[in-house]
Amino acid sequence: MFQKQITVTQPCLPPLDEFIPYLQQVWDNKWLTNNGPLHQQLEKELADYLGVKYISLFANGTLALMSALQALTIQGEVITTPFSFVATTHSLWWNKITPVFVDIEPDFLNIDSQKIEAAITEKTTAIMPVHVYGNPCRVDEIRRIAEKHNLKVIYDAAHAFAVKKDNVSILNYGDLSVLSFHATKVYSTIEGGAIVCHSQEMKHHIDNLKNFGFRGETVVEEPGINAKLNEVQAAYGLLQLKYIDGFIEKRKQITGLYRKLLNDVQGISSLNDMEDVAHVYSYFPILIDEEKYGMSRDDLYEKLKQHNIFGRRYFYPLISDFEPYKRLPSATKENLPVATKIAQQVLCLPIYVELEENDVRRIVEIIQSK
Ligand SMILES: *Cc1c(COP(=O)(O)O)cnc(C)c1O
Repeated sequence: MFQKQITVTQPCLPPLDEFIPYLQQVWDNKWLTNNGPLHQQLEKELADYLGVKYISLFANGTLALMSALQALTIQGEVITTPFSFVATTHSLWWNKITPVFVDIEPDFLNIDSQKIEAAITEKTTAIMPVHVYGNPCRVDEIRRIAEKHNLKVIYDAAHAFAVKKDNVSILNYGDLSVLSFHATKVYSTIEGGAIVCHSQEMKHHIDNLKNFGFRGETVVEEPGINAKLNEVQAAYGLLQLKYIDGFIEKRKQITGLYRKLLNDVQGISSLNDMEDVAHVYSYFPILIDEEKYGMSRDDLYEKLKQHNIFGRRYFYPLISDFEPYKRLPSATKENLPVATKIAQQVLCLPIYVELEENDVRRIVEIIQSK
């Protein structure tokens, strides 16, 4: 039994004394929000760090997803995955778009690109895939399908901060990619998010959308929203960015240790690294094969809780099983066999910067000692 609670994640706060000079700047500037100097600096530093051309900061990832759909005037039906955080689908619903769920692939748990075309109807206008746990979707295949059917692609890249494929940011795929900087994510501005786009015009458009649709002082061109990130959070983000490489390295070590220790536990599997991908190890999901392991995922989840270890069953229930969506024609188990099975098997184990090697060893011992 752990004395302390071990949660699935825990934010790593930068040293407080390093934050004070940033706050001093905010106080000196007397500019608290509305594209302030620290906000501008963070957009620039993030674009450089991530290797993307244009980035617009947002108050959170959900508003960024909703605004991304607005920016491309997406309507009708959008093809998406049920195996994600519920905000993915909520963003469609808030735009009066009908979500169409497509099943996932068993290897990396992303939307099954081979099943997308069958779900396209004349109402389909876009695809919203998710790079689940930061593992890139089959981006080339998805681009090919989108081009063939004249569809937009908006990636929910909330887990994919700094993920690269063939040395290129995964955020450069799709028409838009959306990030979340929530406190539970690898990189955080406490609450926050961003849209990555590929042109100056689109960035202007998105920047206006998040500021009520204002274009200058007296002109409103579209029904925008208030989704701005403030200066204090931008300051926090600037400081976090100084530490991010170390954070990712630490997560990589923890992942390596988990994989090594779990290797010979019967009935427990974890996901591998993908070829030519630079991962950031945002989550550590395991899959529990009840028959081989001798215990169900839910029993293991409860058992860990008794030891003060709080894993999370991301993503169970599937989004398609939640009340607002469960009656959609695409929400059936028959349509989503892989996602349905995985949702019963998956458990995300604790992973965060300050998790100690001994904690990982103890967690695995408890998993081993049925
Ligand atoms: C965290 C998350 C979001 C929502 O981001 P917020 O910043 O919390 O609004 C959206 N999609 C996925 C996949 C997420 O994990």
